[in-house]
Amino acid sequence: MELQSSVRGVRLIGPKKAAALEAMGIRTLQDALETYPRDYEDRTRIVPIAQLSDGDKVSVCAVVGTTPVMQHIRRGMDVTKLTVFDESGTLPIVYFNNKYVAAQLREGRSYLFYGAVQGEGRHRRMISPAIEPLSEDADPQGRIVPVYPLSAGLTQRDLLRVTDEALAALGNANPPDCLPPYLLQKYGLPSLRDGLRLIHRPQNDEQVRAARRRLCFEELFLLSCGLARLRERRRDERGLLFENRTLDAFWRALGFSPTGAQQRAVAELMRDVGAGRPMNRLVQGDVGSGKTVVAAALCALAAQNGYQSALMAPTEILAAQHYETLSPLLGTLGAQCVLLTGSMGVRDRREALAALADGRAAVAIGTHALIQKDVQFHNLGAVVADEQHRFGVRQRALLSAKGETPHVLVMSATPIPRTLALILYGDLDVSVLDELPPGRQPIQTYAVGEEMRARIYKFIEKQCALGGQAYVVCPLVEDGDVGLKSAEQHAETLRNALPNRRIGLLHGRMKPAEKDETMRAFSMDMLDVLVSTTVIEVGVNVPNATLMIVEDADRFGLSQLHQLRGRVGRGTRQSYCVFFGADKGAKARQRLELLARTSDGFEIARADLAMRGPGDFFGARQHGLPPLHVADLAADMALLESAQEEAAALLKDDPQLVRWPILRARVSRLWRAAEQGEMFN
Ligand code: ADP
Ligand code: MG
Repeated sequence: MELQSSVRGVRLIGPKKAAALEAMGIRTLQDALETYPRDYEDRTRIVPIAQLSDGDKVSVCAVVGTTPVMQHIRRGMDVTKLTVFDESGTLPIVYFNNKYVAAQLREGRSYLFYGAVQGEGRHRRMISPAIEPLSEDADPQGRIVPVYPLSAGLTQRDLLRVTDEALAALGNANPPDCLPPYLLQKYGLPSLRDGLRLIHRPQNDEQVRAARRRLCFEELFLLSCGLARLRERRRDERGLLFENRTLDAFWRALGFSPTGAQQRAVAELMRDVGAGRPMNRLVQGDVGSGKTVVAAALCALAAQNGYQSALMAPTEILAAQHYETLSPLLGTLGAQCVLLTGSMGVRDRREALAALADGRAAVAIGTHALIQKDVQFHNLGAVVADEQHRFGVRQRALLSAKGETPHVLVMSATPIPRTLALILYGDLDVSVLDELPPGRQPIQTYAVGEEMRARIYKFIEKQCALGGQAYVVCPLVEDGDVGLKSAEQHAETLRNALPNRRIGLLHGRMKPAEKDETMRAFSMDMLDVLVSTTVIEVGVNVPNATLMIVEDADRFGLSQLHQLRGRVGRGTRQSYCVFFGADKGAKARQRLELLARTSDGFEIARADLAMRGPGDFFGARQHGLPPLHVADLAADMALLESAQEEAAALLKDDPQLVRWPILRARVSRLWRAAEQGEMFN
């Protein structure tokens, strides 16, 4: 068979199995080659029977001592038992519902049994081990056995069969390697053919590592080449030129002086919009670093150059809050703001749309509602996506498409390591706000257990008595049966515990108008305590709040907890944060104590990344990038750096990859699949 042959042609793969393979994306033998094992069973470790202990998963080289007998235990349950021995002892083996095993084993013959050991002493046995016959003379030698991802209707045996056939086809073909030979040599990487052979049929760990390294490098290199091309492509684009770049009036209207970091970010942004190319800039700054000021500066610049701007926020609460701070500020500069959200009334909406369409309104602030079809701008010149990690690249693009290559600013409070940023935001320039506004005191953070509850309630009382306000965040809206606190129930509890305090409730299932109302009451100090779900996680700004309490904090991600904590400490008063859940096991305590120890969002993001892996960390939010199959961005950082360097060097030398047609074709195909259009001219 050939690499392009359908898996339907493989022996013992019928139409049903072929359909199951197709469901996994495996149509051809080539596809099978590109489906890598998700794990390996190391059957090379052969252990004498006497040394086995409970929980081991190892190989035993033993002789069958008793003929296997199958017993019918009850309906639907057959058990096959036998005993094997080696020089050190005997071992019972059990199979459940396996009609074929008896026929595979012959009394007196040696086999390799690989499986899990259960129990100790007299009760020790091996459960359903895999069997490999041994020849009389050869030394017993276990194998490394690949474990493939499966879909319903398939077994490991099927995948082994298909990949065997695919590897045979690979042996005949000589597939073109997209990596230039000089890179293989420099990094000691196996060729594509060897890499594929070793990843599917390694003989030891060393080979697995070598193969993985090769395939990872390839993946990261293709990704890096595409990102470099995206950046390059943008440099050739023409963008709006904002001639008038004085912000004196803006700074005066602001009412406080910007931090050095804010000044730097705004200066970088001014350079961008004055260069005649479209700006694509990321502002990365920890919670509370004052990113909104940078966004406002861009809106002001756009307005004074006769362009409209749009600011998109991930939640209605946040959009409303931005509207309330920006509308007076930009209004005094003559730029009228409108709010646009999904829940606003028909008339208000019609009014806002009309003002945007004829250019009366200079700034649109809103949620996803901004990217709907019927929203039209007179001349959109700049867009801002706040809390960018909540949006995909796609939504950003949809908003931009409402103008003609407007300048784009994205803002994120999730700090990530530089190399990762290059991948995730690889097509963006980056400004960092590494400084908090003056007068902020670090938030005192405590990881506590239930034994502290009464004292914490007293502490809420005390903070409120001092004129502060408190957030209490719960993981659920209403009571479930999972033993977690719900906002509704907990609000009741607190109303009883703190009878003199005004306690509000906020969650995502309330009507938008109610949410607004509650949020407004809290920000105007008409509520002392706000019990809520994580709807307040991003961006909410009530400087008078001095206490954040998170119930069942062990259920949240570290970066999310850091975000929640960032809701306090926004004024000049000392603020506090309390995480309940530190009594729920060693791991929970360890995680929460990390937060108590550090307020460095960067360190926290890294710990989060290490604990959860990038898949979870970024979720499905990063649309627009080709998916990674082998590489693990957190673990393969060094390789990623090399791949980036090499991609940059190669493309600098040969921007269209004229000399590397195979590489060029691979990069094009990959990024076309990610809907990024053509990479090369
Ligand atoms: P984030 O970066 O989390 O979005 P915000 O833009 O919401 O932060 O700013 C947090 C708070 O800090 C707001 O109340 C804002 O008015 C205030 N702030 C921002 N910059 C300054 C500054 N330079 N001096 C004083 N206060 C500032
Ligand atoms: Mg913000």
